[in-house]
Amino acid sequence: MAKHAEKAESTTNPELKFGGVWKYDPAPESTDHVVIAPRHELFVGGQWVKPKSGEYFATIDPATERPLSEVALALDKDVDAAVKAAQKAFPAWRARSGEDRARYLFRIARMLLERAREFAVLETLDNGKPIKETRDTDVPLAAQHFFYHAGWADKLELLFPGERPEPLGVVGQVIPWNFPLLMAAWKVAPALAAGNTVVLKPAETSPLTALRLCELFQQAGLPPGVVNVVTGDGRTGQALVRHPGLAKVAFTGSTEVGKEIQKAVAGRGVELTLELGGKAAHLVFEDAALDQAVEGVVRGIFFNQGHVCCAGSRLLVQESVHDLFVDKLRRRMQRIRVGNPLDKNTDMGAIHSRPQLERIRELVAAGVDEGASLHQAQCELPAKGFWYAPTMLTGVAMSHRVAREEIFGPVLSVLTFRTPEEAVEKANNTSYGLSAGIWTDKGARILWLAERMRAGVVWHNTFNRFDAASPFGGFQESGFGREGGRQGLRAYVRLQGGLLPG
Ligand code: NAD
Repeated sequence: MAKHAEKAESTTNPELKFGGVWKYDPAPESTDHVVIAPRHELFVGGQWVKPKSGEYFATIDPATERPLSEVALALDKDVDAAVKAAQKAFPAWRARSGEDRARYLFRIARMLLERAREFAVLETLDNGKPIKETRDTDVPLAAQHFFYHAGWADKLELLFPGERPEPLGVVGQVIPWNFPLLMAAWKVAPALAAGNTVVLKPAETSPLTALRLCELFQQAGLPPGVVNVVTGDGRTGQALVRHPGLAKVAFTGSTEVGKEIQKAVAGRGVELTLELGGKAAHLVFEDAALDQAVEGVVRGIFFNQGHVCCAGSRLLVQESVHDLFVDKLRRRMQRIRVGNPLDKNTDMGAIHSRPQLERIRELVAAGVDEGASLHQAQCELPAKGFWYAPTMLTGVAMSHRVAREEIFGPVLSVLTFRTPEEAVEKANNTSYGLSAGIWTDKGARILWLAERMRAGVVWHNTFNRFDAASPFGGFQESGFGREGGRQGLRAYVRLQGGLLPG
């Protein structure tokens, strides 16, 4: 298996038992539950099919290390069958009216909301993130993406006036583990709205919600082959992006794999969008509403255990308020509740996998070695599972690894600046360029900074706010292309030029 082998364990271990009924809420009065099948097959041509590889792998709950289910491993022949199913479905799907395609997307969105609780629990179990976030962010936002793109499906000509937007064909989509359901929705909804067909490859350590989404596709009556889901590790992803039947590849994941994919599709005339890593600067000026800024910074780095590509992981504080702000942050961090992700009062859940936990530990140790001071919230962490306390490193210099490399965990690196010019220079001193945040009371300063910061998204006096209508994407090593809004749909159409008849 690939790098997350310790979450996706081999099923040859006879001790592993899968599935069962999971309690939704540890509160004794709750009777809600979600049933997880002990085995999940591939979703190809509208059917559940066994993998030609004959192999399965386990997905586990990172909060307890308990196996949840075994999942089919798709290799070359399975991926080929999925692409062929999508090719077969394409002519009829593209020929449908936009209104007709919209009807399916609306139906999927509504069904997702009707089963919101089940999806939230499943996502929390498979990923480790708190139920508060899956319930209030992941599931509603995923549904919003289907609603939003349903709204555009019959209005694409209005979106691209004077042009004739045509679908591209079969789209191969590869997604990461940090927002499994949301990333699936970000990818699938615009592709279908524009008339493409899809082969989706979820991350090997969090495939369950994408697979459950297939139940909704079936119940919504989506024609067979319009969406196919192949599960597996990097080999599955490689087989998909190299397949000659694709018209486009859309990838969200690490910069390292993004570069490999760029090479794999080069010279083939395949459209490509890459949503990769980040190391966002989060700027706090002395005139900011500091207590609100503390909340924004906490949300910026500790939301989703910091497993967020656009996390505000580099805090730049104006020198005059550094000590005061750090003190406020330290006290606030102490109040973050870390623990059982299914408890509705939990703020921070489990780290997604053991390799991810090891990477966080390694980078924090490097930060301390290089001279940073370590501040960790004092909290009791569960004995089983993968856990890390909310952490802040102060006295960080631009040359430190913790200021340059993506940690992808609940670790904030704190630096200082004196002037707005220095703040911009430090913020832009990165190989990434996905997001940034600004806290100041001065509107003119926000505009001045936003013009100069090289980041795809710049939030001011807030952080980590998402909307389907708002384009999201990066510069430099954070990738290219946008998801969401008009720009997101643009990536799924070929503009033919010329007005539509009639
Ligand atoms: P990853 O790159 O290891 O894996 C992402 C996906 O690619 C997985 O499904 C994996 O199986 C697949 N894959 C692995 N090797 C492949 C290959 N050679 N060819 C094709 N597919 C392959 O990333 P991850 O560890 O799952 O996710 C974390 C990374 O994702 C972080 O760097 C994070 O910043 C980034 N991310 C970016 C965004 C964004 O919108 N920019 C959003 C979420 C996560």
